[in-house]
Amino acid sequence: MPHYHEPLFRPPSEASSLIFQVTLGCSWNQCAFCEMYTTKKFRARPFDEIETEIRAAALTYPKTEKVFLADGDALVLNNKKLIPILHLLYEKFPHLKRVSSYALPKNLLVKSVNDLKEVQKAGLTLIYYGVETGDPFLLKKINKGTSREEMMEGMTRAHEAGLILSTTNLLGLGGRKYSKQHALNTADLLSKTHPQYISFLTLMFPLGKGRFLSAFGGDYEELNTQELLQELKQVIENLHVRDSEFRSNHASNHLALKAHLPEDKNKLLKTIHRVLQDSTSSLLRPEYLRGL
Ligand code: SF4
Repeated sequence: MPHYHEPLFRPPSEASSLIFQVTLGCSWNQCAFCEMYTTKKFRARPFDEIETEIRAAALTYPKTEKVFLADGDALVLNNKKLIPILHLLYEKFPHLKRVSSYALPKNLLVKSVNDLKEVQKAGLTLIYYGVETGDPFLLKKINKGTSREEMMEGMTRAHEAGLILSTTNLLGLGGRKYSKQHALNTADLLSKTHPQYISFLTLMFPLGKGRFLSAFGGDYEELNTQELLQELKQVIENLHVRDSEFRSNHASNHLALKAHLPEDKNKLLKTIHRVLQDSTSSLLRPEYLRGL
């Protein structure tokens, strides 16, 4: 196993992937809701360190099929650095089927469609992209460092390059006051960009609310379970995608859902409606029972 620089994060769907930290931390590190890398100073790791780890891991895990490149934005690396890493991975792991990484919005703007195509051709298959919200006002409030238009441009480039796009979106991000605009504008952004994977997580404050509130301001009021479900319902009602896997089954979510859109849309809405009618529904995670 490579020597990891903690803390180490990966998306839930990368649980069985071998992880290599090609960068440490996040080059932005300023989103109000995120404390994943606040203890780390961002840096790219030298190629020879990564190479040593890949060669050693290939001896121990020769059957590896999935690799995740960490930390927060491996795609910040320019193609001259990233492509040799991808080539080495496919050379050393003959069973490798997929390499993925997180991507910051600005990563997809710095790279042209051709740059992204080169990376995709070298074997980067899927990128995890934090949309969080499609609302322009809230994007500023949470200090995302990007605009709605820039996100749409970046996601279009990713599609054109053939990268699979997995988006994360945050329920409760606008609090009570901005819930409706958050839901409608997020649904609208996703409907215009058609990511292959749409995941909803729920805003949580494992280290306290201080960082979030100092950026967001005093008009944030946390949503309760019923309001979170109403927000999710509003998103799904307004979501018009062609072919997307929908998930809200992260541990932060009060109600775990899994479906394929558009065909399961009514099923999802019926489930949410049923749970909204019954605060003891066994579909709610036990810790949120009677939270309605
Ligand atoms: S870009 Fe991603 S990893 Fe970086 S601070 Fe924002 S949410 Fe966290």
